Amino acid sequence: MNPRLLSGLSVFERGWLSSNNILLHGSGEGGHATLVDTGYVAHAEQTVALVRHALRPGQALCRIVNTHLHSDHCGGNAALVRAFGAQVVIPPGDADAVAQWDEDRLTYRLTNQRCERFNADALLRPGDSFAVGGRTWQALAAPGHDPHSLVLFDAQHGVLISADALWENGFGVVFPELDGLGAFDDVATTLDLIESLDARLVIPGHGAPFNDMAGALQRARSRLAAFRADPTRHARHGIKALAKYHLLEAGNEPLPELLAWFAATPIVRQVWLRLGRPAGSPAAWGEQLTSELAAQGVVVLREGMVHNA
Ligand SMILES: [Zn+2]
Repeated sequence: MNPRLLSGLSVFERGWLSSNNILLHGSGEGGHATLVDTGYVAHAEQTVALVRHALRPGQALCRIVNTHLHSDHCGGNAALVRAFGAQVVIPPGDADAVAQWDEDRLTYRLTNQRCERFNADALLRPGDSFAVGGRTWQALAAPGHDPHSLVLFDAQHGVLISADALWENGFGVVFPELDGLGAFDDVATTLDLIESLDARLVIPGHGAPFNDMAGALQRARSRLAAFRADPTRHARHGIKALAKYHLLEAGNEPLPELLAWFAATPIVRQVWLRLGRPAGSPAAWGEQLTSELAAQGVVVLREGMVHNA
């Protein structure tokens, strides 16, 4: 990878519970830095420590930009504001929900996830640009995974911060589809937009930065075609991804506790109802999905416990 593509950027590659964080360094000593996305609330102190360590002498974190407001992308906002006094900049579609801290519209209640409350100081609209350290980042609308998501593109250097719109192998769960709102067309449109950008380096929301955008787009489109052909497959995949996410936070867990999570999580019930009540109850369906996760090697079932693989 051409190291110049990453100059002035620090990428903190996290796991799946926390999104990656990208620190955009300001120019010279005493410059102002911007952080893109802040991880999950359970990792907030680690995120603060990573930023503190990466800031150059005299440099201040003056701004946080969220690509979208899923709990794994903005869960560190409140802690970072406390630690550094940074301003929080969000996509406009979520402004009212944040102002009222409406956990239904912000999806945290639906998914049974947590996020510490924060305030937004400014909006980043599609088409807006901001400059940090000799790079200019343009915000582009990237609906699909989340209707209000942005991606950020530095056209001069050909660097794309793609959030969960494009990963090296696929893209994030298409959450509106789990709500019964068609969004596969949005995913396709967003992939077309990304293709038009001529990016030489993609920094995804999860996983390592990569150069082969053409390969990633091909894999994403074939995944999208499979989901379009069988939306039930996407719905089951989405619920399994949320269950795995829950396990990453909970750690290893007795199977009955995981099944209680399936029973208590509103989006699981919604999807279960839409699919015609498979297995008779959300918990029984959850047990089937857990077996599938075990068969896929994502979890290990042993002596009544569910372990992260
Ligand atoms: Zn997301």
